[in-house]
Amino acid sequence: MTKKIIALILMMAMMLQLTACGVTKEKRYEASFLELFDTVTTIVGYAKSEEEFSNYSQMIYDTLEEYHQLYNIYNDYSGVNNIKTINDNAGIEPVKVDQKIIDLLLFSKENYQLTEGKLNVAFGAVLSVWHEYRDAGIDNPENAKLPDMELLEEKALHINIDDVVIDEQASTVYLSDSKMSLDVGAIAKGYATQMVSQYMKEIGLINGMISVGGNVEAVGHKFSETNEPIPWNVGIQNPDTKSSEATIAILALEDYALVTSGVYERYYIVDGKQYHHIIDPDTLMPADYFLSVSIVCKDSAMADMLSTSIFNMPLEEGQKLIESLEDTEALWVMKDMSMEYSSGFEQFLKQ
Ligand code: ADP
Ligand code: MG
Repeated sequence: MTKKIIALILMMAMMLQLTACGVTKEKRYEASFLELFDTVTTIVGYAKSEEEFSNYSQMIYDTLEEYHQLYNIYNDYSGVNNIKTINDNAGIEPVKVDQKIIDLLLFSKENYQLTEGKLNVAFGAVLSVWHEYRDAGIDNPENAKLPDMELLEEKALHINIDDVVIDEQASTVYLSDSKMSLDVGAIAKGYATQMVSQYMKEIGLINGMISVGGNVEAVGHKFSETNEPIPWNVGIQNPDTKSSEATIAILALEDYALVTSGVYERYYIVDGKQYHHIIDPDTLMPADYFLSVSIVCKDSAMADMLSTSIFNMPLEEGQKLIESLEDTEALWVMKDMSMEYSSGFEQFLKQ
């Protein structure tokens, strides 16, 4: 036999083996956990056995847990310098941190420019006032109150992103204004989801889907009943949570991220009116343009960052930003429940 034929036979044998043990024997598994990022994490994926899948999900859990601890603003973890440690040391001293924190903050600063300040991780002083009033209002609805504008304005004197001093060489972060604090709630989940989806591919989970509290990344594809590779389906939640329709659209995604920001996610009620958790830096009040904004792009860190910032912009401004970004699409649900799509969004709608 010539070498060529041997090579061909070998190749065919390999292909047969691939279809035998690769695609056909893999089954779909699912795991969920509640402990991280104050939300539900779900992983769906294909593996050869339950054991293989539970190894994958354990590895993913461990990785996500590290991000959860590093990006936490409420809790301390022994031996870990996290975002809370940076906040606790505002105006005191630089804090040595993991590169994962430096990277997150560099990403945030870069996008502060892109979104003209609509997303500001140095907005903690204002956000924590809203957080406090929201928690009190949820615990005791009869006495629910809005924060005074005077108080919000005073806090807003301490939100300058330039006072977040990052020393890459020394791996430190310093808040030079003692009254300022970081809040990474608008990007941390998407950023961690993006990092973990890369990790999924590295460990061999090449067809899977992860959702960290609705920050979704569809990796590779799923398989039909006849074993054809087909896109993952992801629903976009109906912002009208009282409606019998749970979703307003189903998207077909392969190697794309989907993130939604909406009025229904976290809110409290004052005098019969709902006040949600995304605060417009221009008004210091909950943004009042839309019911929700969904972003589809390759990178869930970008999608999370954009969903919050576009939520804080009038439609035309958001449209301009989305159209200027490659491979990035948006869906706006307007206050009257009508929908606006960016120019390429409809390609993702499931037929
Ligand atoms: P969720 O975290 O509920 O999925 P988002 O990604 O839109 O929704 O993030 C909302 C969170 O972002 C808020 O809870 C708050 O911590 C933070 N946040 C709100 N407004 C801003 C803003 N203008 N800039 C930066 N962070 C913000
Ligand atoms: Mg976001």
